[in-house]
Amino acid sequence: MSAPKRNYNKAELIKKDLAHHMPAQADYSHIEARGGSTIITRADGCNFYDIDGKEYLDGMAGLWCVAVGYGRKELAEVAYEQMLELPYYNSFFKTANVPAIELATKIAGIAGGKLQHVFFNSSGSESVDTMYRVVRRYHALMGQPERKAFIARTNGYHGSTVLGASLGGMSAMHAMDDAPVPDMHHIMQPYKFNLGFDETEEAFCDRAVKSLEDKILELGADKVAAFVAEPIQGAGGVIIPPEGYWKKIEAVCRKYGVLLVCDEVICGYGRTGEWFGHQTYGVTPDIITTAKQLSSGYAPISATIISSDIFEVLKTKGEDFVHGYTYSGHPMCAAVALKNLEIMENENLVAKTRDITAPHLAKALKRLESHELVGEARSKGLLGAVEIVAEKGTNKRFGGKEGKAGPIVRDICIKNGLMVRGIRDSIVMCPPLVIDTAGIDKMVDIIEKSLNEAKAELLKI
Ligand SMILES: *Cc1c(COP(=O)(O)O)cnc(C)c1O
Repeated sequence: MSAPKRNYNKAELIKKDLAHHMPAQADYSHIEARGGSTIITRADGCNFYDIDGKEYLDGMAGLWCVAVGYGRKELAEVAYEQMLELPYYNSFFKTANVPAIELATKIAGIAGGKLQHVFFNSSGSESVDTMYRVVRRYHALMGQPERKAFIARTNGYHGSTVLGASLGGMSAMHAMDDAPVPDMHHIMQPYKFNLGFDETEEAFCDRAVKSLEDKILELGADKVAAFVAEPIQGAGGVIIPPEGYWKKIEAVCRKYGVLLVCDEVICGYGRTGEWFGHQTYGVTPDIITTAKQLSSGYAPISATIISSDIFEVLKTKGEDFVHGYTYSGHPMCAAVALKNLEIMENENLVAKTRDITAPHLAKALKRLESHELVGEARSKGLLGAVEIVAEKGTNKRFGGKEGKAGPIVRDICIKNGLMVRGIRDSIVMCPPLVIDTAGIDKMVDIIEKSLNEAKAELLKI
């Protein structure tokens, strides 16, 4: 299954990479100081390999996306066939293509309920931009153009366009370019371990929900357009909300006529053990934004899925919805995504996640919770996080400040052949949905071994 090994000139590639290629989210001087990027050359199943042939278990499914694993011939074949038949055509000229139509229909089927209308884009960020434009247009057509405010959450991640960075709640992103753009507001994230350590789950939940209601009342209920949140915050540190949070959030939105938007770019397509994260939490959003696992990362495509109530307003009251991308509904990307969803269905990946691998991950992490450096090890579906603490039984951090321990443990995990992320002081994981229970055990074992190895260095912070 694996792609053939090729002989590359590593020194030459590193030189070109440093001279010309700008990697994402990077400190360019640091990349140079460490002797260049790690060049990844091939991948198979749940593993990938660097240019030196070192094998890594992919605990991050690429970047939260490779649900069906690497090396899927069916996806390569469908891309090849589609590129020969119709490599490209736009949807600006009252035109459509077969894969885009079939994919929209497939997505509407698995989303169910009123989420029946699909707008395609190429990335999660674009999916969020589309959502924003739909929401603004909808309220304008409903005669409420003053509903402009968007409420999202601290450490939420909604992409890296100006709008995505503004709607997201990442302070480092806001600082870089005077974001957020106007009308963006942020409330607390439902991060009990950090923000409600001594509270009961119920009290913390009510406080987190109240922060939304307070913000709506502060802004004026008739000024708020939408509340946007990830069912489980991903890049914010795999923040799993307390029991009951989402149902109560939904009730607050309905009470004030605020649209409920779930950013399902990570949770969508099986990650939480249902097709979508909002299904896991039993709520009915008006719009969902999706990307990543839609194509398992094999092709850049995203989908903004809109309720029929909103679509009817756009249709009957509107003129042109003046929005679209050159690559909206790209036929090759749509064909790959459609095949990807078919693979997920044929291999029962969503039910397998819910019934087998997610419970197994939860059990393996429970074991890790007794480790002296671990304050909490949580998971939902195949999303997990391990909180590193300086003092067992507390949420005290090494060096008295968050963000010092995480990168140290992460780097040791990577050295030990497991790709995970260190977000502040947690190690987060999001393995491909095709991982088996042995793969999960291996992942958790490497984290445990890496924590043991890290101890001496952590104590020096
Ligand atoms: C990754 C992500 C995005 C942005 O997707 P891109 O494809 O990187 O533009 C948006 N929202 C969430 C929740 C994400 O995880």
